[in-house]
This record gives sequence, C-alpha cells and structure tokens, in this order.
Amino acid sequence: MRRWGDVAGRVAATTKTSEKTAILAAYLADLAPADLPVAAVFLTGRPFPEADQRSTGVGWAGLAGAVLRVAAADGEALRRAYDRSSDVATAVGEVLAEAGHAPDPAHEPTLGEVRAAFEAIEAASGAGAKAALLEALLARTSPATATAIVRVMSGELRIGLREGLLEAAIAKAFDRPLTAVKRAGMLTGDVGRTALLARDGRLEEAALALFNPLKFMLASPAEDAAEIIGRLGPTVWVEDKYDGIRAQLHHAGGEVRLYSRDLHDISGQFPEVVEGARGLPWAGILDGEILAWRDGVVLPFLQLQARLGRKNPSARILAEIPVIYVAWDVLGMDRGADALVAPLLEEPLTERRRRLEALELPLAADGGRFALSHLVSVDSVDGLEAAFAEARARRNEGLMVKDPTSRYTPGRRGMGWLKMKKALATLDCVVVGVEVGHGKRHGVLSDYTFAVRDDASGHLVTIGKAYTGLTDAEIAEMTRWFEAHTISTHGRYRVVEPTAVVEVAFDVIMRSARHKSGFALRFPRIARLRPDKPADEVDTLATVTRLYEGLQHGAEHLVTASARR
Ligand code: AMP
Repeated sequence: MRRWGDVAGRVAATTKTSEKTAILAAYLADLAPADLPVAAVFLTGRPFPEADQRSTGVGWAGLAGAVLRVAAADGEALRRAYDRSSDVATAVGEVLAEAGHAPDPAHEPTLGEVRAAFEAIEAASGAGAKAALLEALLARTSPATATAIVRVMSGELRIGLREGLLEAAIAKAFDRPLTAVKRAGMLTGDVGRTALLARDGRLEEAALALFNPLKFMLASPAEDAAEIIGRLGPTVWVEDKYDGIRAQLHHAGGEVRLYSRDLHDISGQFPEVVEGARGLPWAGILDGEILAWRDGVVLPFLQLQARLGRKNPSARILAEIPVIYVAWDVLGMDRGADALVAPLLEEPLTERRRRLEALELPLAADGGRFALSHLVSVDSVDGLEAAFAEARARRNEGLMVKDPTSRYTPGRRGMGWLKMKKALATLDCVVVGVEVGHGKRHGVLSDYTFAVRDDASGHLVTIGKAYTGLTDAEIAEMTRWFEAHTISTHGRYRVVEPTAVVEVAFDVIMRSARHKSGFALRFPRIARLRPDKPADEVDTLATVTRLYEGLQHGAEHLVTASARR
C-alpha cells in the first residue's frame, strides 16, 4: 500500500497527462495478478469496484475517532489540520505525523490487507465496530500511507486522475488497444477486472453479466428547442421526462433485481415490479423509471417519496401508492437463462427500442406492471415546443430528447440524450455548508450553502445559499444527518461532508464575486432533496456558464422559462 501511495503522489505531482499515464502504466505492468485489480480499483478512489454495491460506511465521526485514538490527539488537532488544507486525507496524515506515529515499516499493510480491512469494515455492523477496525488498520500504517488509505475510503483521490486516463494506462501497460479496454470497462463496470483481462489478453471475453449493474447513461441539460434541434436534428426522438426513480431491471428465469442509479439493489422496495417481471420469457437488462401510478394517472413525485427507503412496504402503502416500471431502453438481451447476456449497447437507439417493443411487456393498462416511455418523432422547433406542452399536460417533468442513432454510453453525460425540463429553472448542487436558521427555524440546520463542480479542477465551487424549501420533517431529518457529517464548526456555520445533493430552483444566473464559482443565483430555493443522486453527478461549472450565456440572449427566454414553471 505504501508503494500505491507513492505512485498516487507522483501522479498528483505532475499536470501532464502523458506523464501520469506513463507512471501508472509502469506501476500496473509490474504488479502481481492478485494486486493488480485492487490497485486499479483504488486508483478510481473507491474501496470496491463501481458495480459492487458495497461501501465501508465509515462517516466523518468514525474516521475522526479512529485517527484521534491512534494519534492520541484531540479533535482540535484534526480540525486545525483540516482548516489548513480542506482535505480530509491530508489532515489525517498530518495529525498522525504531528503525533510522531511511526509504526514498524516491515508491518505496513499490503494492498491485499487494506482491501481485506475494507471488506471487514463493510461487513461490521455499527459505527463503533467499523471505527475499531479502521483504528487497527491505521495503527500499523505510516502517516503517508494513512493519507492514501483515507483518499480511497473518502472517494476524494485529488490526484487529477480521470477514468479515461486509467484506461489509457491499462492499455499502455499491457499493450492493448484503448478501444478494447474501454469496451471491457463499460461492460464489466469493474476497472480491476478490466485490468486483469487486459493483462491476460482476454479483453474480448468481457460480457454483460446479469445482476451486476451497469452505470446509467446520463443526459445533458439543454437550453431551448432551437438548440436541441440544431444539435440532434433534423429528426429527434422525444420522450416524456418522468419524475420518478431511475432503475435498471435485471431479469433471468425466476430472478428479478432493480438497481438504483448509484447501483444499489432496491428490489425490496418495489415488490410489485419484481413480481410483475418474474417469469417473463426473456433474460435481459432494461433501463427505465419507477413511477407512482394509479388508475391510469401518474402521481406526483411527492407521493412516490413515501415509498423510498422502505424495504418490505406494508400492504396499505402498496395499495395507496402503487408503482409501475416505465421502460425506455434495453441494454442486453438473451432468450436463454444463463447469467450472461448479449450486449446491445452499441446498437442504435432505433434498434434497441424495436427490441424493447418486441418484448411485449405486460402493460399497466392491462393489469401488468409495465409501461413503455411515451415516444414521438419530431423534426421541427415548433413540434418540440408542442411536445413539451403535451408532456407537462400529462403531468410529467419535461422532455428527454434522444438522437435515434445514438449508442448507449454507460456513465457518460453525452449529447445523445438531452433533457429539457422546466426550462433552465433548476441545478443539481451539493451541500457543502449549513447554518442554524432564524426565527421558526432556530435550532435546526436550515440554511444551506451549496456548490457545483468545476470540471477543470474537479473541485467543488460554491454558487449560492438557500433557506430551504423543504418540509419541517425533511429539515429535521437533514439536521440529524448534517450533525453526524459535520467536518468542522465555525460559530453558526458548519462545514459538512459534501455528499447531500439538492435540486436548486432559481430565477436568474448572475456573475458575482460572492461565491467561488464566480456566479450567483437570484432567488434560489431548494426544490427537493436528491438522495438518489451521487455527489459526483452534480451539475458542473460548464453547465452553469452555458445556462448563463443562454440567458444573455434576451428576455424572451426568461418569459418562456417562468411561464413553464
Ligand atoms: P436529471 O436527474 O435531472 O439529471 O435527469 C436525468 C434523469 O431523467 C434520468 O436519470 C432519469 O431518471 C430521468 N428520466 C425521466 N424520463 C426519462 C426518459 N424518457 N429517458 C431517460 N431518462 C429519463
């Protein structure tokens, strides 16, 4: 693990992509087969592969407790160190170094031992048990290696390494075509397995495995109908943008699983969909959305929220808020029942849709649990505007506009899919700081400072502050969450772990020096919590800039935006 930390440090020390790739390639080429997948996965800033749903589950409090016990230091030391760098991993290394922590280098944990420790931490129940295991790991670890371990655990690698670069390094290390590495990475969702296949010259064996969720294809926000037709046209496919929970459905024989967009198994929350899919005469993987739906009408997201996070929902709630699965894509399909399915990702959307329709899913209208996304083909700006109005009339959020020739690109926010929703009115941001409210909100953490991601540096940059638009119950729940995830307290203000995603509505974007992003929002308000959205998928500074520039084109746009809200 020490060597991994050294390599990560050398990658961080250069800004040149070619040098980063060369350092990584030399390192990966030299690793033993057992270490290669572990090192590669750690280089993505994750303890486990992305398609693996496990996480260590250690929060700030557990980590701080373990470090402070090893260093025999008090919380103030860690807070001071954090204030210096705003980086948890650096702060941990500094606190241990200041305490003179210097365990015998001969007993430093190996990559395999760190991975085993992560597994044990994940499997342990209770924050105390997890922290004790982490403490035992850090006790054997030098300050520099502890920094490396915390980087992997916290998902904040900060070494300027994008996934594409790691794939390039794998290709270079084992002298394989980059396209073959990328394809295997897309199918396996596991860079460790991809690295091993590359090493062994078996990349073509990568396949889509059932019950091993793939990353979801993402959509880019679009400004207006003319821009969309200009980009994807002349003919575009237009689907309603449903306001539900994105889910990937895997099915083979009697087995059905639903995965959320952060790749967690959420089958237990939606037993009626699982039942509705069981025994259908195909094995395959669908992409779609879970929607609250009763008597032919889509229910508002607020109602669906009552179903979230409830495993084994009661008969009452199942009857009150029934759900269906609206499918819009098929990612792999086979008529057999083995665990591997033929990928359809590289087929154009037209072909995937044809395959989806051919499945003849049992539709909700006929007592089944499925629907197909509402799809029309449009080839003019007016046609797109009309489709938007109709989607809103059907109580949906807006439109998804898709290029009928596009491939399915897991995990990418490409230009193949554009989302047109409440025109411009919201941004997905991550909360970085909270403050105690005033008046009625006294005693709860109700004022949120939120940020978007600067695509160039990868850092979060603040863009505004909102006094929540959340319900009292949501504020109370979030207050508890923020209290448990506070990094440091400065008077009324707390710096919090940047993982809670909120959708922020606003009226106008302005240039402003008040926030780090260089922008400010006029009348920002929290439209809703986005527990389904991981923090690395929040909107980017490039999107904000694009929206800002779009807004400069004149007042007409603003009128359209507000009339639609
Ligand atoms: P957003 O969550 O605002 O980034 O918008 C992207 C989300 O829209 C996807 O993750 C889906 O959950 C959702 N969505 C709704 N309807 C569709 C559709 N017809 N096609 C693709 N995504 C859709």
